[in-house]
Amino acid sequence: MVFKPELSWEFLSRDEIAFRTVKALRNHVVHLKEASHYYSQILKDIDPAEISSPDDISRLPFTDRTDVVNNLQLFWSIPFDQVAEMVATRGLTGLPLVFILSKGDLDRLVFNGALAFNAIGLTQEDRAQVLLTLDGLLIAGMAYYRALTAIGVNTTRIGHIPFDKQKQYIDLLKPTVLISTPSYLKVFGQRLVESGYDLRNTSIEKIFCVGESIRNEAFELNSIGKTVQELFNAQLFSGYGVTEFSVSYSECAERNGCHSHPELIYTEIVDENGNPVPDGTVGELVGTPLGVEGVPLLRYRTGDITFKLPGACSCGRNSDRIGPILKRKSQIIKLKDKTVYPLAITSALEDLDYIKDYILMIEGKESFPDQATLHIVAPASRLDSITAHLREKAEVSIPILISNIATLNSFRGGTRREVKIIDKRNQ
Ligand SMILES: [Zn+2]
Repeated sequence: MVFKPELSWEFLSRDEIAFRTVKALRNHVVHLKEASHYYSQILKDIDPAEISSPDDISRLPFTDRTDVVNNLQLFWSIPFDQVAEMVATRGLTGLPLVFILSKGDLDRLVFNGALAFNAIGLTQEDRAQVLLTLDGLLIAGMAYYRALTAIGVNTTRIGHIPFDKQKQYIDLLKPTVLISTPSYLKVFGQRLVESGYDLRNTSIEKIFCVGESIRNEAFELNSIGKTVQELFNAQLFSGYGVTEFSVSYSECAERNGCHSHPELIYTEIVDENGNPVPDGTVGELVGTPLGVEGVPLLRYRTGDITFKLPGACSCGRNSDRIGPILKRKSQIIKLKDKTVYPLAITSALEDLDYIKDYILMIEGKESFPDQATLHIVAPASRLDSITAHLREKAEVSIPILISNIATLNSFRGGTRREVKIIDKRNQ
């Protein structure tokens, strides 16, 4: 596949993007009715010809995670002999959802990643190290690895190997860019600095962060973002991927919101009643991925809370931009006296340097309320100050247990440090 960023829709005018989007949405509905067992029923009374503006899509039904969980195989829209790869969502909440991808879907993923890396200025001169796991059916490592190699960036699959070895690979291979999660980079960076390594003066110029927000609503680095920036002394860029969409939203050099790739996804932000909200207003991210063959979706509700930025980006791209993920609706915890978003708890914990690792465990079945417990690796003498900090920053008071790394990894079923929330409800 030859990547030609100039052929992407991002630099077209807003009107031209809207015009092409309408055509793409109409074709998408035709495709859903023909190829998807699920949507052929749901959309049987819908005439695609009636979609004449992007707003018309708001008349079509939403799809949520429960619909997909309950009807997974009805969503699979290609024969098995055309499946090139299978991926799954993380399974942090409920059962893992297995998504099938055609060869065309893999090319689409490459195009998505290539647009993201083009926007942060990567070229064939760069050397990338992917510090993401490439196994476990996870999409991110696989997708970004494919994209980097496709655009000719010299790419090394580092994954999660012992820190000493990673240090050697930085010295030997001199990467200019890292692709990783902020949580992993924080632990990795701190460990290297503790060993006396001069991490601020390496060849690493840029870091593409996935999996967690590194910015707050004002687009300043948040606590974990600041820590990673301080440790590595590199430019940080944020990417927000959604497995179900086979797409990511990612920052350009301006680092003021994550751009959508309009030929790959139509993005809406809706309020609690499902009505579209104006740009700048916070609501739930809803996406209609375009051009997907394996598991095409319509108006999929992510449960992730963010906002669209008004106006155009000074980089010249006219695609939609979204802010950081502020909350995840799917993970809301209903305690006895209030509801709490886990991201409020985890971002408060990131402020405290003496916490070496932690897991927020959420339990409860049908019963109300939920139970949340924090397992923390920190000195026991800090317990009171952690409790006070959580009360102040996240307005929450939950049981805290001092633990150790081995126990936390046993909860995770491995050593993937970026797993900070384990939701046992619905399991
Ligand atoms: Zn931009």
